[in-house]
Amino acid sequence: MNIEATKTYYENMPLKDFCHCDYCQNYIKEIRKAYPLLANYLEAIGINIEKPFETMPLEPDNNRIEYIAVQYVVFGDFKNFKETIISNVSIQIAKSHPYTDINEKHFVIEIAPIILNWDI
Ligand SMILES: [Zn+2]
Repeated sequence: MNIEATKTYYENMPLKDFCHCDYCQNYIKEIRKAYPLLANYLEAIGINIEKPFETMPLEPDNNRIEYIAVQYVVFGDFKNFKETIISNVSIQIAKSHPYTDINEKHFVIEIAPIILNWDI
């Protein structure tokens, strides 16, 4: 895993480039306060939790919404990445994901499940 390259990627990614659908906007708004430990963990490996690569939401229900999985890009080699569980959320290497359009060595991780307030 290349933490410096991952950090640079997230720092250089403008928020305006993100998907503007309500599901993604709600995620970006709510995720850090709902999962502070998870945010810290991802930050330690260079990931900004507010900049997901892909979200997979279910329909909102009673002002709550579940994302069955959310994916993030990580630079470097997946071999020294350790899968774990934080705040009941599993952090694993994604088995499939959309095309990333990144040329450098990278992989995609998946955090699941995520339950947030629906505040749109
Ligand atoms: Zn979206």
